[in-house]
Amino acid sequence: MAVTTYIGTRNKELTASASEAILRGICPDGGLYIPKEIPKMDVQPEVLMQMDYRELAFAVLRLYLDFTEEELRDCINRAYDEKFDTEAIAPLVKKGDALFLELFHGRTLAFKDMALSILPYLMKTAAKRQGQKEEIVILTATSGDTGKAALEGFANVDGVKIMVFFPEDGVSPVQKLQMTTQEGENTCVVGIKGNFDDAQSAVKRMFTDEKLQEALAAKGYRFSSANSINIGRLVPQIVYYYWAYIQAVQAGEIAWGDKLNATVPTGNFGDLLAGWYAARMGLPIGHFVCASNDNKVLYDFFRTGTYDKNRPFYVTVSPSMDILISSNLERLLCHMGGQDKTKAEMAALQANGVYQTDITQTDISAEYATQEETFAAIREVYAKTGYVIDPHTAVAYAAYRKYRQESGDQTPMVIVSTASPYKFTKDVMTALDARYANGDAFALMQELENVSKISIPAPIRGLKDRPIRHTRVCEKENIQDTVKEWLLS
Ligand SMILES: *Cc1c(COP(=O)(O)O)cnc(C)c1O
Repeated sequence: MAVTTYIGTRNKELTASASEAILRGICPDGGLYIPKEIPKMDVQPEVLMQMDYRELAFAVLRLYLDFTEEELRDCINRAYDEKFDTEAIAPLVKKGDALFLELFHGRTLAFKDMALSILPYLMKTAAKRQGQKEEIVILTATSGDTGKAALEGFANVDGVKIMVFFPEDGVSPVQKLQMTTQEGENTCVVGIKGNFDDAQSAVKRMFTDEKLQEALAAKGYRFSSANSINIGRLVPQIVYYYWAYIQAVQAGEIAWGDKLNATVPTGNFGDLLAGWYAARMGLPIGHFVCASNDNKVLYDFFRTGTYDKNRPFYVTVSPSMDILISSNLERLLCHMGGQDKTKAEMAALQANGVYQTDITQTDISAEYATQEETFAAIREVYAKTGYVIDPHTAVAYAAYRKYRQESGDQTPMVIVSTASPYKFTKDVMTALDARYANGDAFALMQELENVSKISIPAPIRGLKDRPIRHTRVCEKENIQDTVKEWLLS
């Protein structure tokens, strides 16, 4: 099967090969790249069933990337190795009546590792194929997890610099220390006085700011993105939906061809969209549940067809989902309604913060969970099964319960588990017992170990005692100046 090319979501004449799309990160007009055609899986189920994660990744990614077999296998082998603390890379575990797909066995304990472990290799390969000589500068906005996963992936990679912006008051203590203690001369971490949307909007603007790009080019730099606006982030995430399905068949939960549903704790919509691509490739996923926290802009969208970001922004216990501008939804809109409509919708979003669609989506339902419901979900799963889930996974679990009750749909459900509870010790322990509410996030790691019977993951042992290497803080208006200061002065 031919490898797909990519087109813009706001203009279908903006075409790119996978390598070009990965290097650019975003279209010149601010749109996103989507596959021109979503490829069909061409490997037989019996063969897929015999594969390990790396072989499966090859079977999927070769349909999306214009690399040679050798190049692609090399990227995959370097990415999915002992960095992950389990051979399965992303195990599917059954607890009670739900199947949890654990995507947090990488170095930063969040699902971002699944894609960011491979992105640096994809980018270097793309640069080689394109004959690009400039040094790549990765600009990253993070709601907490992408930042660390990108830093870990790109630290000390030759020919790359990485700069990360995180909301100073919007991440967990563990997330913050993970980033501010980051080593590597090519890394720069900046706290901003603002939220994730402020950071993401500033970063997106810089990608389309021609003056800034010229100034950078004169110094031999070129921007790219490690956010899920980059298709190099998105396509590796398709793999684990196949992997979940294969494991569910192996465990006897379903037979090949049976439907499997998935609930996805959602922020920027990258994770869910990757699953949607898997379904379009032919994977028998029945239904998706898009789970939100109190920032339920997607819940309202899927229920009403109106996207409205004009609303209060809440800092919640699931900070990686505290997002009001969900970038990857643009891709779904384009697949369904085409470029002209998408362009108008994005212009309306930019101008007024709101747009309306006439899309009636049938395979994505939306639910949301409040903080109380999130804590109740952590307690419920623990009480029933002894398994401790993190607040993002708990939002998904609560959404799954609501969906099942509302729909009566008894199809087996995968809960996409996006973070280790160890990243959110304080909220997790407080959910289990209110007396921990005033505890120290780091001291509570030991308590969590006692309760969960799962040892403290190696990457965060001793985190508290590591030297802080990044102390920059900037106003949200000054993000661009901070970039210039670091790169151009
Ligand atoms: C990033 C993140 C999410 C949201 O994923 P999207 O692809 O942005 O929708 C959910 N949970 C955790 C723990 C995350 O890090």
